[in-house]
Amino acid sequence: MLQIKQLVAGYGSIKALKSIDLSVPAGAIVSLIGANGAGKTTAMKTVMGLVRPSAGRILFEDREITGWSVHEVVRQGISLVPEGRSILAQMTVLENLEMGAYLRKDQAVGSDLAKVFARFPILEERQQQLGGTLSGGQQQMLAIGRALMARPKLLLLDEPSMGLAPLIVADIFRVIQEISNDGTTILLVEQNVRQALKIAHYAYVMEIGRIVLEGSAAEVSANPKVMEAYLGGR
Ligand code: ATP
Repeated sequence: MLQIKQLVAGYGSIKALKSIDLSVPAGAIVSLIGANGAGKTTAMKTVMGLVRPSAGRILFEDREITGWSVHEVVRQGISLVPEGRSILAQMTVLENLEMGAYLRKDQAVGSDLAKVFARFPILEERQQQLGGTLSGGQQQMLAIGRALMARPKLLLLDEPSMGLAPLIVADIFRVIQEISNDGTTILLVEQNVRQALKIAHYAYVMEIGRIVLEGSAAEVSANPKVMEAYLGGR
């Protein structure tokens, strides 16, 4: 579904991506792991059109989307849940969700809202509350709900479990699994490598701008370097 080919991108003289190749097949959960600053967020931002690549190609459903604007990328079927959630604290839960659908031309927003509320009953209960009054876990659910309002075929999740208590982290991973079961393809960036590899089919490991390892989630989990660096040894 998504193919990234020899992608190079960065910020001025900083080359955050030094030619990466990565594929996400339709229906899969693919996880991208690596230390802080490895370039994971940059990879997602470049797919979304938030960072312009200086070389390489991005294909979505066999169509080249390299250099497309964010709204064109979203219209094509890709949504990002950014790191740090970035929900609008001064807007209500409902308004935040409606923002997620603003690019949609069709009239099915109501039924998507119903779906999001069915998945996250707490958001329905709190729909008139300001986003900023929600707990961290609820804000993350809202950020995911907002992304789903654009009806993505591919959902990019950047550190969805960051800063959340263990019980809430489990909820987030359950929700990701459910979204996948419903047919949405997922690219997941996570610091919580153990949990990410449990739900992923395939994984890539990044180090300072390059992919240094890839394989099935089972292969990557069994890799001694991954065990040592990300899984706390054996
Ligand atoms: P993290 O988990 O900390 O977000 P990451 O793997 O997602 O790490 P990136 O955020 O993609 O890494 O950062 C890759 C490199 O690009 C780092 O060296 C970082 O300092 C640099 N970088 C990221 N964003 C910017 C920016 N807006 N301006 C300049 N440099 C940046």
